Amino acid sequence: MGSGLLSQPTLASIGQIAPVRIGVLAYKGPELMQEEWQHVRKWLETAIPERPFILLNFDQSGLTRAIHEQAIDFAITSSGHYVALENREGASRIATLESPWAVSPGKSIGSAIVVRNNAPLHTLADLAGKHVMAVEPDAFGGYQIAAGELLRAGVDPERDLSQLQFTGFPVQKILYAVRAGQADAGIIRTCLLEQMVRSGEIGDGELRVLVPIGTQGLRCQTSSRLYPDWPFVVLPQTSAVLSKRIAMALLAMPRTEEGYSWTVPGDYQSVDALFRELKTGPYAYLREWTFEVVLRRYWGWMLLGLALLVGWAVHTVRVEYLVSQRTRALQAAQEEQRRMAEEALMRQVTLDHTARLAILGEMASAIAHELNQPLAAIGNFARGMARRIAAGRLEPVPLLEGTSEIVTQSERAAGIIRNIRAFAQKRSSERKSLDLKPVLLEAVALFSATHPEARVVWETTSTQTSARVIADALQIQQVMMNVLKNALDAQQSAGHAQAPIKLQFCIEAHTYLVTVRDSGCGLAPEQFRHLFEPFFTTKPEGLGLGLSLSKGIIESFGGTLSVKPNGGDSGLTVRIRLPQEELS
Ligand code: ADP
Repeated sequence: MGSGLLSQPTLASIGQIAPVRIGVLAYKGPELMQEEWQHVRKWLETAIPERPFILLNFDQSGLTRAIHEQAIDFAITSSGHYVALENREGASRIATLESPWAVSPGKSIGSAIVVRNNAPLHTLADLAGKHVMAVEPDAFGGYQIAAGELLRAGVDPERDLSQLQFTGFPVQKILYAVRAGQADAGIIRTCLLEQMVRSGEIGDGELRVLVPIGTQGLRCQTSSRLYPDWPFVVLPQTSAVLSKRIAMALLAMPRTEEGYSWTVPGDYQSVDALFRELKTGPYAYLREWTFEVVLRRYWGWMLLGLALLVGWAVHTVRVEYLVSQRTRALQAAQEEQRRMAEEALMRQVTLDHTARLAILGEMASAIAHELNQPLAAIGNFARGMARRIAAGRLEPVPLLEGTSEIVTQSERAAGIIRNIRAFAQKRSSERKSLDLKPVLLEAVALFSATHPEARVVWETTSTQTSARVIADALQIQQVMMNVLKNALDAQQSAGHAQAPIKLQFCIEAHTYLVTVRDSGCGLAPEQFRHLFEPFFTTKPEGLGLGLSLSKGIIESFGGTLSVKPNGGDSGLTVRIRLPQEELS
């Protein structure tokens, strides 16, 4: 069947007055359509005598086109087609058909899935992999309702059948094909089978409806739930007065012999829900997730999403930029700090070294004197032994005594040089656990050896055998040498170099306290304020670094170095405190 007009009465046959054009979906073919709907045309002509009425036959797409081109004023069509028209063409309904077989106008149209009586098919799921026929994809009872039921039964008619064949109108040929075994099942509108059996087109018992649903009041068998019956459709351009008169005429139309009549317009919501489920009719776009469809439908959300995305991207880039900038600044600051720390360390090492060399410089004559003694002794022994040998007195005992003395004295000299070399070495500070007492005693010994005029008196109240601290022995010695030298200098300028310099060692408040007390010249309050400033000196040959370096060294081990005038007699006391190892 073509998709255009199927049959058209000429204008001559209906006079000059414009006829009211009613488009009808001729699902069973044009002849049957004219037969089925003539009573409606006749009734309307009786009710509205001043206008002629014509019925125009269409298939579904032809009817849609006619409506679109405003070639008709009203339409009688399937519920499914109507919902699509309502959506796309702005059509509305003015009455719903009441069919004789229906439970009610709202429950009238369904699908029957028809199989041969002896076919081994018993459930909808049995249709998977089978050859199924239907009239056309847009047919409501003739395909769409059944498709919804199949989907709910887990069979997707578009994917799960071996073949889904659309035969086109008239629909009767589907039943003939199923009967002839050309297909396993056919989808038709509910009640069509019963009608054809009644008219003798199909023999009773040849075909059966698959999984008939028992619906009370329905005189036919259905494989699906039921949807509203066909509506009488008015199109947007049609006159409201005419529509109202036709609506009233339809409602007043007496029931036909077959039992058809018209009632108030029904609710087609369930049809709409089915279309949504099938993603067809007005919801066909749900299948077409093309970029354009998505864009058209969700452009608002997409725009918002895009804006958020752009905002987020800008934010991220900005944050990353800031982070990288700050990181760079931080790295530069860290690098600068590291460089400064390195420089400070180098300066400290150089200063320490200079200070030690200065001390050594001051000690030079004392060192020479100290070395002189073993060298003189070695000389004496060597000369004595030479005399003995010359005189022929070769007894081994005195000769051995002599050589052993030479060895002892040379070791003493080597020891002095070793100490001095270690002291003069340029090196950075090292920290390790050490016993403070022997380090102090060694410093006193070195100082006394190099300053014979000094009299250092060692006093201790501590009975503790060891006094462990975390420090650098060489640096502690450097501090002690410096402090003792200052004490000696001060006593020398006071005119009593030989007076005792008291070195005390005790434990006080979890620290080891070392005090060096002299009876020297002391310091004027004005000078006292500058005591720890680098290069502050009152001595002609002084560097003024000793005390400031000593304070730095002791503080680097977590301790303190302070100086205070002696109460009563003259002189100063230097107090050095170092934390006990377990507390540091
Ligand atoms: P220097 O001994 O090279 O001058 P110091 O930093 O060791 O450098 O001492 C700085 C100054 O502090 C000394 O010049 C001296 O005036 C003063 N001073 C240090 N110790 C004493 C002390 N025990 N008695 C008096 N004055 C002292």
